[in-house]
Amino acid sequence: MSVPTRFRASCTDCRSTSELEPEAFRLALGGSSERTYYSFTCPSCGAAVRKRAGERIVEALSGAGVRTMRLCLVQQPSTVP
Ligand SMILES: [Zn+2]
Repeated sequence: MSVPTRFRASCTDCRSTSELEPEAFRLALGGSSERTYYSFTCPSCGAAVRKRAGERIVEALSGAGVRTMRLCLVQQPSTVP
């Protein structure tokens, strides 16, 4: 049996470092690396932390089964009344 993967994440709010399971993370893939983030809720202070995710982090997180959502810009149809 394989050991479940854990990721070390540091909170930008309370600066505590926690080890979290993949289920604790969300991955948001934007069109570019500047718009690619991972997010988690800090178990210490409850803050929603969002950080830029580099290519390696994206690979590691998605490989571990982290829920991924793909972000794309939707052009709103111009509804002129
Ligand atoms: Zn925190």
